[in-house]
Parts: sequence; C-alpha cells; structure tokens
Amino acid sequence: MIIAIDGPAASGKGTLGKRLAGHYGLRHLDTGLIYRAVAKALLDAGHSPEDRTRARAAAQALDPSRFDEAALKAQAVGAAASLVSAIPEVRSVVLAFQRDFGRTAPGAVLDGRDIGTVIFPDADVKIFVTATPEVRARRRAVELEHGGDRIAEAEVLADIRRRDERDSTRTIAPLKAAPDAYLLDTTHLDIDAAFRAAIDIVEAVRAGRKRG
Ligand code: C5P
Repeated sequence: MIIAIDGPAASGKGTLGKRLAGHYGLRHLDTGLIYRAVAKALLDAGHSPEDRTRARAAAQALDPSRFDEAALKAQAVGAAASLVSAIPEVRSVVLAFQRDFGRTAPGAVLDGRDIGTVIFPDADVKIFVTATPEVRARRRAVELEHGGDRIAEAEVLADIRRRDERDSTRTIAPLKAAPDAYLLDTTHLDIDAAFRAAIDIVEAVRAGRKRG
C-alpha cells in the first residue's frame, strides 16, 4: 500500500505520516527532508540555493541514510529548501529515489507537496492536510523552539506565507491537492484527533475498494 500525504508547511503531515506508517507497518519518507538536505549542502558550502548546477550536483550526492533531521529542520534551511525545490533538475534527480522508496515492500507513507499529483498519482490513498497559516505558525514556532531555534511567531508566520505562495505558484510540481485526495483540515484538531481522522479516511478507502 502507498499512502500519499501532501500539504503546506507545518500542516502536521510529517507527524501524521510517521504515525500512519507505524500503524500500518509501512515505511515512512518525509520528502521535505530531501529538499532540505540539498539546501543545507549548498548553504554549508557558501553557495546560493538558486544555483542550478550546484543544486543538481548536491541532489545527486545525497545520502538519505545520513540525514540529520534536527539540523535539517532549522528555519533557514526550510526557506532555502523552498528555493531549491523549484529547480526542475533537482526534482528530476530525486523523483526516482522517492518512487523506488515507495515501491519497496511492504509499501510506504510519503509526505510532501507533490506525492499524490506527481510522484505517486496512483497511490492507494491520498490525503491533503491543511490548517490555517496562523495555527501552522504557532505549531512550527513551538517545534522550532524545542529544537533550540527560538523565532518570533510573527516571523514564522511570514515565512510560512512566503513558502505557501512560492510552493503553490511555481511551474513545476506546485503544491496542490490531487483531484482524488481527501481533505483533512487539522486547524481544530490535535495530533491524536488528526491521526484518528486519517485512519478513518484510509479505512473508508479500503472498505470501498473491497466492496467495489
Ligand atoms: O515539508 P517541508 O517544510 O520540510 O519542505 C521544505 C520545502 O521543500 C517546502 O517548502 C517545499 O518547497 C519543498 N518540498 C517540495 N516537494 C516535496 C516536499 C517538500 O517541493 N515533496
């Protein structure tokens, strides 16, 4: 089974993805980490995240087994990732990796921006997670603070709005819900309630499939 979870920054899709994967015994891939790792490699080397040639080379050199998730979650890395991810050469390099990951038994939950639209248009279940920008900013600010990155909520909100705008309006693989995705608005849901709602969606799809 392949479950595709897409949504904007800090919508809760990563946490949901992890929990769904645990529940169904599937592998989990947070695809944002891939773009963040390319961005961090460029930043660390003092290069622009918009340098296409260097970004492509950094994508080819990635080793996902060595990702340092805590370092990749920093605010500055997320902002740079949004620039890197608009480079077509980067997306084509990492596309095959994501497909191979998902097709490896026993299947996977992948979360990102284009999983249900581009990477796995035939995913068994597609969920598009949303929440208001204000709620997402609050959650992200708390998360960043836990990671030692203390940033004012207003600044996090501004960054989220910029990233939403850039990710939804880019020409390649823009952030959007697949026509057959189930919408899950987590604005008023805590993580347990969001998880239960996601399980309900997966179970409804599976039951429908059995009947059909
Ligand atoms: O989800 P996360 O905030 O970690 O993603 C960082 C950036 O990577 C996003 O702002 C987006 O530009 C990019 N991304 C993407 N496609 C994905 C996952 C992330 O373009 N599948």
